[in-house]
Amino acid sequence: MKNYEHFYIDGAWCAPAGTGTIDVRSAATEEVIGRIPTATAEDVGRAVAAARRTFDAGWALTTAAERADWLKKLASALEARVQDVATTISQEVGMPITMSTIVQAQLPVNVTRSFADLIATIDLEEKVGNSVVVREPFGVVGMITPWNYPLHQIMAKVAPAIAAGCTMVLKPSEIAPLNSYLLAEAAMEIGLPAGVLNIVHGDGPTVGEAIARHPDVDMVSFTGSVRAGQRVSSLAADTIKKVTLELGGKSAFIVLDDAPFEKAIPAGVNNAMLNSGQTCSAWTRMVVPRTRLNDVLELASAAAAKLKLGDPLDPKTRLGPLVSEPQRQRVEGYIRTGIAEGARLISGGRRPPELTRGHYVEPTIFADVRPAMTIAREEIFGPVLTILPYDSEEEAVAIANDTMYGLAGGVWSGDKDRALRVARRLRTGQVDVNGGRFNLLAPFGGYKRSGIGREFGKYGLDEYFQIKSLQW
Ligand code: NAD
Repeated sequence: MKNYEHFYIDGAWCAPAGTGTIDVRSAATEEVIGRIPTATAEDVGRAVAAARRTFDAGWALTTAAERADWLKKLASALEARVQDVATTISQEVGMPITMSTIVQAQLPVNVTRSFADLIATIDLEEKVGNSVVVREPFGVVGMITPWNYPLHQIMAKVAPAIAAGCTMVLKPSEIAPLNSYLLAEAAMEIGLPAGVLNIVHGDGPTVGEAIARHPDVDMVSFTGSVRAGQRVSSLAADTIKKVTLELGGKSAFIVLDDAPFEKAIPAGVNNAMLNSGQTCSAWTRMVVPRTRLNDVLELASAAAAKLKLGDPLDPKTRLGPLVSEPQRQRVEGYIRTGIAEGARLISGGRRPPELTRGHYVEPTIFADVRPAMTIAREEIFGPVLTILPYDSEEEAVAIANDTMYGLAGGVWSGDKDRALRVARRLRTGQVDVNGGRFNLLAPFGGYKRSGIGREFGKYGLDEYFQIKSLQW
């Protein structure tokens, strides 16, 4: 049981102004594994004041080389905690430990290092005619993050903000907040200057909204649901804050008729089921040639059957529970809707009978899905894959683009150039071609209602700069 009683504000542990607390539960055992204090608007005010003071007192004027050094130190301090981070997040979120170690714990370390490298090499000034255009840190940044890849999503903001010379007030998800205390410990251990990073906890309506409203916050970087993103944007509009949004998705994976099906279909299933489907960029719509439907269904069910459900702390587990009971009930509601609307369940759909504790749902696959069905339109955020047949390449592209979202996607073909041609037609921020690997220097972000702005690489770094022109 991890019992935290403070916030990390102005470089120190700070007692909360109020008395509220939140219990954090294990996704697998449902037991309370930690407790955190919840902030009030007063705590947010203190955190913003510390960030403002630090920015104005000179953090903004530090050199890129100095900030690169801080990032390297922070990356090493996080790396020393990889096991602790991985175990904590496996418990909070339910992701199996083998995957959690790589994705939830090591990836944020790599992301932090990538921004140390970038800021050390990027040119912050350019000559344009008789002007010099300079990039300056944006200011005090409010950050609001979700629970599904909690530390990864935090470092996707904190690392570029440090690199750029911003100061920040972070509100991690109240559902998976424990990992952020490990970040605070790392920041304290390396002696990150007081006030650069401030962390407050609590729910969205109280703490998140206080950040979005605060007049001394210059920019808000938000990752989460469309609904909360809309609310943050409208609050931020009152003081004309810059807002970046990383929101939901309903990404399509187009399998072309010349693809190696025995490779592509399991890859598509594994992508949809990663983190029990609680991944914003998951390929939750598999778009396949109608002529090959029987092969697809057979391969997809076989791939789902290999995803061994179990205890996230067991290295052999491939699929853990969902994060919480409300999340499971939401997902089960969608499964019922899918059946009621006439989709055909070919795998899963139930709670695994042998797992009586934890919010488990079997890997679930629906065939005979039509684009108008609810399960093909709404983000389910659970282990539910929909399979939609097409009759022509043109129709496959139209199905893929027929969504209010535009975060990610995949295309697989035996002919890479053909796959690339199709990939260029998808209205989304990133497309993996023939199983292309995640690249942390590539931009990540959404078209349409999947968001505004980009994270990672130089594109993510750019969000944290103001641009000024000097001419003489
Ligand atoms: P959520 O929107 O409920 O919560 C995200 C964060 O916003 C939390 O910290 C929450 O406390 C806060 N929040 C909630 N209401 C708020 C309000 N009114 N004002 C200010 N802050 C508020 O989302 P979630 O359930 O934590 O995460 C799941 C969602 O996040 C999914 O839709 C998923 O697709 C999306 N997501 C997107 C990305 C991406 O990079 N595009 C990454 C991960 C998750």
